[in-house]
Amino acid sequence: MSDMHSTPDITTLGALLARLPQTRDDLADLYRDLHTHPELPFAETRTAGLVATRLRDLGLEVTTGLGGTGVAAVLANGPGPRILLRADFDALPVQEQTGLPYASTTEGVMHACGHDMHVACLLGALDLLVAGRAHWAGTLTAVFQPAEEIGGGAQAMVDDGLFDRIGTPDVVLGQHVAPLPAGLIGCDPGPALAATDALKVTLYGKGAHGSRPEAAIDPVVMAAATVMRLQTVVSREIAGGETAVLTVGALNAGTKDNIIPGTAELKLNIRTYTGPVRAAVLAAVKRIVEGEAAVAGATRAPDIEPIDTYPVLVNDEDAVARTLAAFRRHFGEESVLDPGRATGSEDCGIFATASGAPLCYWFFGGIDPDTYRKAQTAGTADRDIPSNHSPHFAPLIEPTISIGVEAMTAAALTWLTPRQT
Ligand code: ZN
Ligand code: ZN
Repeated sequence: MSDMHSTPDITTLGALLARLPQTRDDLADLYRDLHTHPELPFAETRTAGLVATRLRDLGLEVTTGLGGTGVAAVLANGPGPRILLRADFDALPVQEQTGLPYASTTEGVMHACGHDMHVACLLGALDLLVAGRAHWAGTLTAVFQPAEEIGGGAQAMVDDGLFDRIGTPDVVLGQHVAPLPAGLIGCDPGPALAATDALKVTLYGKGAHGSRPEAAIDPVVMAAATVMRLQTVVSREIAGGETAVLTVGALNAGTKDNIIPGTAELKLNIRTYTGPVRAAVLAAVKRIVEGEAAVAGATRAPDIEPIDTYPVLVNDEDAVARTLAAFRRHFGEESVLDPGRATGSEDCGIFATASGAPLCYWFFGGIDPDTYRKAQTAGTADRDIPSNHSPHFAPLIEPTISIGVEAMTAAALTWLTPRQT
């Protein structure tokens, strides 16, 4: 293709995207198939097999079983940068309630976070990049990651020698479908997604008959006091300009009205963006949990055990500026926004921190723009638009897949070396 009339990257992108209309139906079928057959973290065997087959069909060099069920692929296409494109592919323990004809057929498991969309979009982008390989030089690597939802998949792939297989990338690019209108792309430079610390707390009391409190040390009261006191961590110990979230998502004790149980269990979820705030919150949690147990006269100190952790996801400012410039040229200035920090968490950043590469991780909208606009006008968008992890989460297949494919392809070409053809 001639590059007389536009900048080389736009020309190259245009050349590659010319093929997209031919692949749309196939990608939609693939998406519906993945959506119907969701798999829980580290059990994504069908999904991994399907992905590996497609990658081999594209002619990529494929490694399977990385970090359990992870799949990675490489296409060396001459001297140039090495880029890593990432999709996650696990589902959630959610009973789907969308009523869609392609709803999950697996009881209690659903692609409620849209990772099926990520797989379809990355495979679509790889198809375009492979077909258009004459237009660029460099090494294309792709990572299909298991177990994002439990914060273990990225680290498992890294620990299993991912970078020995695919080389150390010069940039890491990833995306997530979001409850924004389809057509919008959002990316926040700097710390964009929060660190998570999920903790299990076991409080030890002394069980007795419900009629004899004098014989018991009641862990139910201990748990109640602990939950209330934990509410003061964010409100009374963290500066107003900082962000932290502390949720007690589970509180379990006892079996029967007339039995004072021996133990109580809490599950906490903590979100922070900086090391000092994280350390302050964790220290306050320990102090309060231990303090309330001591005040209650607990028989032994509580146990505080980590359930899972995610590091803060930090977008590289230069990588974001460069990638978003490509998005603005392709999608238009008004389609790209900075959504600000989100309190969600993601382990995609591990591929960047573990390899020393800069990261650009963005969100792309998956909601019907008309539906979104109506809810926004009514002021009910937050409540009425089903978001990720909802049993009603149902991204619009098109134009969402096409936008995800275009975004990933545009981002990749921003880093690969353009080649005259
Ligand atoms: Zn999720
Ligand atoms: Zn997700």
